[in-house]
Amino acid sequence: MRRKIVAANWKMNGSNDLAKALIGEVGKGLATLDNGVEVVIIPPALYVSRVRQLAGSEAGVGVQDIAPWSQGAYTGEISAAMAADVGCQFAIVGHSERRELFGETDAVIADKVSQGLAAELDLILCVGETLAQREAGLAVDVVSAQLKEALKSVSGSGWKHIVIAYEPVWAIGTGKTATAEDAQAVHQAMRRVLADMGAPAQEVSLLYGGSVKPDNAAELFAQPDIDGGLIGGASLKASDFLAICEAV
Ligand code: PGA
Repeated sequence: MRRKIVAANWKMNGSNDLAKALIGEVGKGLATLDNGVEVVIIPPALYVSRVRQLAGSEAGVGVQDIAPWSQGAYTGEISAAMAADVGCQFAIVGHSERRELFGETDAVIADKVSQGLAAELDLILCVGETLAQREAGLAVDVVSAQLKEALKSVSGSGWKHIVIAYEPVWAIGTGKTATAEDAQAVHQAMRRVLADMGAPAQEVSLLYGGSVKPDNAAELFAQPDIDGGLIGGASLKASDFLAICEAV
């Protein structure tokens, strides 16, 4: 059985007040949910400890990024070991916003994966094609190359810490979602790529992200190779986020 995961990526949104209100309501809803979904809240790093405290045992917490280095003179950076030290179980790596706005390459992301595994974090590696790449028929090629490069150092028991989020760039925050069939096709292809890399491909959880909402979540999560979601905008509204967690 693969892990079913719904992760909330707050991005650069939130405050102490929002954390308190949102986690209060989400926590209550999750306390009565018994569909086996693992819920992870990923706020800006400054709020991780607060969210950890508020969420109790109802949800795990994570950070939105980690440094590709272990420690030292890297002003502004947060290491994987620090994330683990304050109680994070998860870290996102390779989000398209990091790739686009901060010029992160697959090589840098591969270093983050190594750091995250050394700290025994579960990593949510984001991959996905741009609209131009999709229109050129390159979606699977792009995603395959990203997987192969970012995960090149993973082996053995490391694979159990790897979760992949397929997030087509054109679907993030745009209100455009990949159709359930298109997403399933890419997820199936990703499982083939993982198998070629020597991963236990049937055991790796593959999430979909990009404008997941209460009204499209059930159809996406019903696909055989979609094991949950990485949720941006809709994770900031308790009722929407809970509805998505229930749809798994
Ligand atoms: P979105 O973001 O749900 O707002 O499209 C998803 C993500 O970028 O992780």
